[in-house]
Amino acid sequence: MTQQQNQEKSHNDMPHFDAVVIGGGPAGLQAALTAGRVHRSVLQLDSGDYRNATVTEMHNLIGRDGTAPADLRAAAREELSRYDTITSRTTSVESIARAAEVDGRPRFTVHLADGEEVSTSAVILATGIRDELPNVDGIAESWGGRIANCPFCHGHEFSGQRVGILGAMLATHQALMLGPIASELVVFTQGEDVHDSLRAERIELVDGAVERVAEYDGGLTISCAGGRDVEVSGLFVMPKMHQRAEFVADLERDMGLEISEGGFVRVDERGRTSVPGIYAAGDMAVGPNLPMPMFSVGNAIGGGLAAGATSVADAIMPR
Ligand SMILES: Cc1cc2nc3c(=O)[nH]c(=O)nc-3n(C[C@H](O)[C@H](O)[C@H](O)COP(=O)(O)OP(=O)(O)OC[C@H]3O[C@@H](n4cnc5c(N)ncnc54)[C@H](O)[C@@H]3O)c2cc1C
Repeated sequence: MTQQQNQEKSHNDMPHFDAVVIGGGPAGLQAALTAGRVHRSVLQLDSGDYRNATVTEMHNLIGRDGTAPADLRAAAREELSRYDTITSRTTSVESIARAAEVDGRPRFTVHLADGEEVSTSAVILATGIRDELPNVDGIAESWGGRIANCPFCHGHEFSGQRVGILGAMLATHQALMLGPIASELVVFTQGEDVHDSLRAERIELVDGAVERVAEYDGGLTISCAGGRDVEVSGLFVMPKMHQRAEFVADLERDMGLEISEGGFVRVDERGRTSVPGIYAAGDMAVGPNLPMPMFSVGNAIGGGLAAGATSVADAIMPR
C-alpha cells in the first residue's frame, strides 16, 4: 500500500497519519522506521536542532564507534526514504491539540510552523533536550570536542592525559569515573566545597573562578581569577538541561503530561507517556523510577524502537 493510499482524510480533511514522529535524532528516526516497516503511515518531522550537533566523533555505539553523528542521521534518513509509508519533512512543530476520539481511540492535531495541520492517532515525541552550558567564555567553542560531559562518550580519548573537571557539584562522581583513564585530574572548584575524598594524591584542586577557556593545538588553557593559567587536554562540565521543544510545557499544562522532577517526560518501559496516544523516547524521556535518562545514542535508538512498536501495538489492541 502506498503512503497516499494509506493516508485517509480526517477532521476537516486534513491529512491523517497513523503516527507523527517529532524528532530527527536517533530516537525519532528509529521510531519512524519501526512504525513505517509495519506499513503504518508515518510523518517524521525534524527542525534540524540536534543535541550533538557540534560532535564530529561519537563513541560508545557498537558498529559506529568513532564516527560522525551526522553520518548516522544521513544513513538513517536514506533508509527511511526507501519506505513509501514514511514521509520525512524538515519543519518545526508549534503545538499539539487533542481532537475528538474516533472509535474510542485518541486523535490529535499537530500544528506545523508553516501553518499546516495534520491529524494523527499517535504522537511520538523525540524532541531531545537543549544544553545550557556554564557561562564561561570559550566553552561553547570546544563543546563536543575537548569539552564534554560524559566519560562514556568522550573519556577514553583522554587516556593517559591531564583532564579537568569544572565545578564541585559532580566532581566526585566524575573524578571516580575518569580516575582509571586520566594520568592527572584537576578539579576547578569554582570556590565551592568538595568532598574530602577528592583531596587525594592525584587530584589537584584549583579554587580561583574559571574566567576563560581557550583551545590550542593539543589542549585547553583554563584561565582563572588571579591570573593563573592551567593547561589540560580536556575538560568535563555539567550543563543544565532543558526540554528542546517548547510545546512540551503546553502538553503538561493542557493534557496533564507527566514530567519528572528533573524535567523529563515520564514514560513506562514501552515508551508510553501518561497521556494515551502520546509516546516519548530519547534524551527527553525518562523511564520508571529513574532520576534521569541514560543520555546516549544507543539508548535513544532503543527508546525510539520501543515507542514506535508500542504505538502500533496499542492501536491494534481490541477496545
Ligand atoms: C557534546 C555531546 C556529545 C555527545 N556524545 C555522545 C557520544 O559520543 N555517544 C553517545 O552515545 N551519545 C553522545 N551524546 C548524547 C547524544 O547526543 C544524545 O543522547 C542523543 O542525540 C539523543 O537523541 P535524541 O533523538 O533523543 O535527541 P536529538 O538527537 O537531540 O534529536 C532531537 C530532534 O528533535 C527535533 N526537534 C526538537 N524540537 C522540535 C520541534 N518543535 N519540531 C520538530 N522537531 C523538533 C530536533 O530538530 C532533532 O531532530 C552526546 C551529547 C552531547 C551534548
